[in-house]
Amino acid sequence: MARTPHSGKHFRVHRIGPGVWSAIAEDGGYALCNAAIIDLGGRTVVFDSMLTPMAGAELALAARHCTGRAADFVVNSHWHGDHIRGNASFAPASVISTERTRRLIDTRGRRQWAGDRRTMGAALRGVDAPDSEIPPAERALYRGWFEGTLAVPAGFEPRSPDITFSRELSIHGSRRTLRLISYGGGHSPSDVFAYLPEEGVVFLGDLLSVGLHPSAGDGVPADWADMLRRIRGLGVDVALPGHGPVGGPDDLRRLESYLRSLDRAARSAVRASRSVAELRSSRIPAAFRDWKFSAFYAENLVRSYRLASTGVRPRR
Ligand SMILES: [Zn+2]
Repeated sequence: MARTPHSGKHFRVHRIGPGVWSAIAEDGGYALCNAAIIDLGGRTVVFDSMLTPMAGAELALAARHCTGRAADFVVNSHWHGDHIRGNASFAPASVISTERTRRLIDTRGRRQWAGDRRTMGAALRGVDAPDSEIPPAERALYRGWFEGTLAVPAGFEPRSPDITFSRELSIHGSRRTLRLISYGGGHSPSDVFAYLPEEGVVFLGDLLSVGLHPSAGDGVPADWADMLRRIRGLGVDVALPGHGPVGGPDDLRRLESYLRSLDRAARSAVRASRSVAELRSSRIPAAFRDWKFSAFYAENLVRSYRLASTGVRPRR
């Protein structure tokens, strides 16, 4: 087995256990999100297909290199473009998601793609503009995101999943089984994570980010926090996030406390009749102040505030 199976422009591959590799997105590359390659024994599974068909093609090669066979299945953790636009690069592998995620890819996913193509030229120019609010240390990441989107060949459309489920689906290989589980929506309207029970390895998509603020704009932070607690209860030793380096149970705990603090701050702001503008100028709690994507904090708080003011409660 190769020690350094693949290092390309878009991501770096690391072995995180026997037959399990993480593909960690490189700042400035066209992957944006992390992915995993899992050898089940006679079956190769790729978890999340990245932002662009170019990164997807590199990931398909890496999967072949690591496991000695082409991917049989690709899993989409949720509908967001940075996790699904590499799908087409894995043909003839089947793409799996929840039923809800498939519908969202076919509706919001296609609209998001068309919108990104229109707006990302200006967004790219803004990254290094004199009035740019993006911290210098984060600019390479944004450049890769916007440049990658613009570099996708004309005529590209996101490929829909072929196989759908709602709560749980297992993929069995000759050596082990990968469980795909959905507890509903947390980060997005429908999130899937993958779990190797014997190894305690969990692949979380955007249900986890490590060292950077998550994006809660399409989610329900209180439900998301409940979900993380439930996932920890399964027994987790290693956790692959959608963004940031490989983590563990403490990172799940940390994000859970971030999401609960958002929810608390939003509810107290609603009770105190604070305005959205006041909320936007809130200071980031000290525990999360060194996380990247700091601009997401205010957006996340506003999302929680809107949910709290319309009376949405966590689903139990
Ligand atoms: Zn996402």
